[in-house]
Amino acid sequence: MNWADLQEKKTNELQLTVELYGSLSATGKGHGTDGAVCAGLSALHPRHSSTMDIWAAMPRLVEKPLLSIAGEEINFQPEKDIHWLAWQMDELALPHPNTMRFRLYAENKIILEMSILSVGGGFVEKLDPKTGAKQSSAEDERIADLPHPFHTAADFVKQCTENNKTPWELVLLNQEKLGHSRQEVRAHLDAVLDTMDSCIEAGLNTEGILPGGLNVRRRAKELFKRIESGSTPEWAGNDLRPSVYAMAVNEENAAGGRVVTAPTNGSSGLIPAVFRTLKEKHNLSRETLQNGLIVASVIGALVKTHASISGAEVGCQGEVGTSCAMAAAGAVAMLGGSIQQMEQAAEMGIEHHLGMTCDPIKGLVQIPCIERNAMGAVKALNAAALALASDGSHLISLDRVLKVMKETGLDMNQKYKETSTGGLALG
Ligand code: SF4
Repeated sequence: MNWADLQEKKTNELQLTVELYGSLSATGKGHGTDGAVCAGLSALHPRHSSTMDIWAAMPRLVEKPLLSIAGEEINFQPEKDIHWLAWQMDELALPHPNTMRFRLYAENKIILEMSILSVGGGFVEKLDPKTGAKQSSAEDERIADLPHPFHTAADFVKQCTENNKTPWELVLLNQEKLGHSRQEVRAHLDAVLDTMDSCIEAGLNTEGILPGGLNVRRRAKELFKRIESGSTPEWAGNDLRPSVYAMAVNEENAAGGRVVTAPTNGSSGLIPAVFRTLKEKHNLSRETLQNGLIVASVIGALVKTHASISGAEVGCQGEVGTSCAMAAAGAVAMLGGSIQQMEQAAEMGIEHHLGMTCDPIKGLVQIPCIERNAMGAVKALNAAALALASDGSHLISLDRVLKVMKETGLDMNQKYKETSTGGLALG
């Protein structure tokens, strides 16, 4: 049923329920999923609304449990109407570990429903209400018409090499065909870079205890002061700067601040940390940083297509591992490496995170997540340096490692995939 049909069938009172299944339910309280649902239903936007308004949405609905959607008033009490459910929907296995269902009732009868899969990094897929299959997006269907289509990392390398194009030029040509001018794409990338930088600054300038009840103390500010005063060890090339930048971002994430999903919120610190470190060391131009982000996004898209960027699906290898691969390839791009070296750096970034579990304590994205981004940033820089010091030839391809990553994720026990029922989450 669509909204127009609803207008005809509608009687008196409308009421909405939201069902959260699987990992969304198991870690949703710690992840702030209920707050995010309330913000979305209140028509707030993750990019354009203030974080204060976003986090005020749930208390507002608790006080006045009424939504206004498309001119209709709908009853919705967050404590009663958000249902935290387990691993089956209608007695069937879930289509994805992060599944949610919205149901609209009139006079206790369901008049409209929609099931959504949260597949990582803010991406969602809808289930067809009739067939229960995933619906493809219009953009998916237009991929075949691109001037430089690629499905695998090997295709991408081949497209760049055979057409004698830089990876960012190739992506910009594809984007133009999809209706996004290069000016639009670069303006968007600029906004992403600005948000990443603001997030680092906010993290480096805030102290205190993170919310959620674990009593985790923010450390980035104090550590940065120590770096600035020269009182941190620099032996063995261990510059703490990238680690502290990553921690600054992930502390902001844990405190409900504005971050860039890269590819997810849990792994949002690593790319800003690597890019800022290289910008400072090499005085990189804005355009070079944008090009690095384009390469990083290609790697993220390849992982999303062939494995997963969801901790609930494949563990933390899909979040911090993916972010490490994205940052490593982006770093090689920004430092003038070849497309083969970019692919090699991305492969190393994933390879050395294979099997990494997701076991956040209390479902809060704090322990092990904050330090995990710090470690991932250092690994990404190392992978980039190793790739740049070689000629790009290597035995295991990025495509192969993605296949292994997916298989490893499928074999991983559910308790290590964002459920907070195993590993470090048990304390
Ligand atoms: S452990 Fe990794 S995948 Fe799990 S919530 Fe933390 S950052 Fe995300």
